[in-house]
Amino acid sequence: MTERELIEKLDREHGLTEAEYEELIEGRDAGASELLASLAAEKRKDVFGNAIYTRGLIEISSICKNNCLYCGIRRDNRQAERYRLSKDEILACADEGYGLGFRTFVLQGGEDAYFTDAVLCDIVSALKSAHPDCAVTLSMGERSRESYKALYDAGADRYLLRHETADPKHYAMLHPAEMSFDNRMRCLIDLKEIGYQVGCGFMVGSPGQTAAALAKDLAFIKSFEPDMCGIGPFIPHRNTPFGGEKQGTLELTLFLLSVIRLTLPKVLLPATTALGTIDPQGREKGILAGANVVMPNLSPVSVRKKYELYDNKICTGEESAQCRGCLEARMKAVGCTLAVDRGDAPGHPVRGLQGAAG
Ligand code: SAM
Repeated sequence: MTERELIEKLDREHGLTEAEYEELIEGRDAGASELLASLAAEKRKDVFGNAIYTRGLIEISSICKNNCLYCGIRRDNRQAERYRLSKDEILACADEGYGLGFRTFVLQGGEDAYFTDAVLCDIVSALKSAHPDCAVTLSMGERSRESYKALYDAGADRYLLRHETADPKHYAMLHPAEMSFDNRMRCLIDLKEIGYQVGCGFMVGSPGQTAAALAKDLAFIKSFEPDMCGIGPFIPHRNTPFGGEKQGTLELTLFLLSVIRLTLPKVLLPATTALGTIDPQGREKGILAGANVVMPNLSPVSVRKKYELYDNKICTGEESAQCRGCLEARMKAVGCTLAVDRGDAPGHPVRGLQGAAG
């Protein structure tokens, strides 16, 4: 098939075979990207109108027991400054965010043993009691099924866990031997079965990533049907084994955002901070390529620089209100508005506001 035929098929059937995804990636050119972006932006508008969902990101800990080769807060980075927010600090960030119009809070952090089920459940239920009209998303890494269930019962609505790569051999290049592809996948399946709105995703341009591996990612996303999908460019961090590797490109990230939008029209697709880091207009371009979510930072300014996953991360000096104002203006510039609601995944049943089943 020609590139155009592949794109038309993707638009019509919301999916390609793995081999076709690979062909589309390998054969892409500027014309194909432009066509894809315009179809994807149209699809975003059909599903979400001009509303861009917004999530307040609270980076609750930079302490991590894992040693992912790409990540700036990996265990072996002795130069990383470590911090952990207290329950009161987390609640204060959420209160400030609520005042700014956020109705979803994302608690993200390294795999920090301090956050036992008891500690994290207590924080989740306090957040839900303080703001019953808000959704709580967790992004705290790999945990047991029992742990995910306890957190869900405490009121957590959503969970973000990027699968990182759907190719087991590639997974093994990005992670130390003690981490396993199978466990990552087990986590995602558990989360879905428990009832969370689930997000997976991957870095674009991570070392060792091929068109064939990306095609596996797309085929996985198609079959897993996540509610959210976080993709952003890989950006090297100087104090990691991948410090000398090349960063992912804007061009390929935008191309893949469009492919994902056409594959899963209703998916929640963030224009990430990493995209804004590699290009000053990266997030706007992401929206124009089909993304429909932005995740401004609500972490206390005093810790922002310490949650340094990659070099030159943006938005580490601004106050939350500045971040929100800045994004509002950026979205307006591309004809969109920031929504003030929970922004649930279309089609996913939303349970009772207090975390009860149903
Ligand atoms: N510990 C949790 C987990 O594993 O899901 C959440 C925190 S983890 C730092 C969040 C995401 O950051 C990862 O899923 C990874 O894709 C992304 N990330 C880490 N290092 C990165 C880098 N150098 N460039 C771009 N993204 C990176």
